[in-house]
Amino acid sequence: MRAVIMHGPGDVRVEEREDPTILEPTDAVIRLAATCICGSDLWPYRGVDQPDHQHMGHEYVGVVEEIGEAVETLEVGDFVVGSFVISCGRCEICREGHPSRCVHAVFVDGEIGTQAEKARIPFADGTLVATPGPPAAELVPSLLAASDVLGTGWFAADAAQAGPGRVVAVVGDGAVGLMGILSAKQMGAERIIAMSRHADRQALAREYGATDIVTERGDEGVARIKELTNGLGAHSVIEAVGTQESMMQAIRSTRPGGHIGFVGVSHDVELPGDELFFSAVHLHGGPAPVRRYLPELIQLIWDREIDPGKVFDLTLPLADAAEGYAAMDERRATKVLLTL
Ligand SMILES: [Zn+2]
Ligand SMILES: [Zn+2]
Repeated sequence: MRAVIMHGPGDVRVEEREDPTILEPTDAVIRLAATCICGSDLWPYRGVDQPDHQHMGHEYVGVVEEIGEAVETLEVGDFVVGSFVISCGRCEICREGHPSRCVHAVFVDGEIGTQAEKARIPFADGTLVATPGPPAAELVPSLLAASDVLGTGWFAADAAQAGPGRVVAVVGDGAVGLMGILSAKQMGAERIIAMSRHADRQALAREYGATDIVTERGDEGVARIKELTNGLGAHSVIEAVGTQESMMQAIRSTRPGGHIGFVGVSHDVELPGDELFFSAVHLHGGPAPVRRYLPELIQLIWDREIDPGKVFDLTLPLADAAEGYAAMDERRATKVLLTL
């Protein structure tokens, strides 16, 4: 089968790999229907993380081709959506609702890699969710979004307690930030402030439910959020970048007692203890427990209540993955879908 391998920063190639097979009785092998490139794939692409012949890709939808004898909830032929973290579904951490930190957790990036024609998914019952039937073609991008960016944006909005009567601010206008806006809207947030400098992303942010756009950053950005919230700050803040600047922006934009959902993969962030202490905010974040939300998100997509698939603004064949990475790196695309 063909798969995307990152040999080093900026060096993305589509190469032949051996087909995956069932190794454990809890495994499934799926044939990918679509996959995509994540903003987090840009960290190794830009050399912030050091890739070394890494098997890329962690977002995926596909059809089950083979199952191990212990798999109970799936059948060959099912169309499935999976989380970007393998989870057993049975340990205490999974049962308490944090499958991305399962005691058996494995990140799909690296070992598995779903920018490929096929993938072996360990703990298939605890990781994959079948759709009610074969999806219409136009639902596939939205189901693919559920695998990470929608699930992650949803978690961020949930962790930030977005809901009726709450003002939500979203730091970051990449795919996850945009999905955070969609999620906050779906959860009934009263007002949603998107922090964005890009006209095309502002337009999609508005379409997904943003009521205000703030283009300033840093201290000026914080000042604008305060202006819009009677000087108090937002109730709920979604942090979807993962840098020192974005994290401080989130903390300083939140009112005392407010909630922050931080889901940008943290890179060299150091929080000043004294400022954190006096901010009196709630912080909850990390790799999103996507598997927990998948049944609900699949249903919302199936019923056409949400359309997260619009976040893909470039579609390329898997063979052109290198061009997809370049397009995202150069911000010519927000998120690239790869067809198989
Ligand atoms: Zn991702
Ligand atoms: Zn578990």
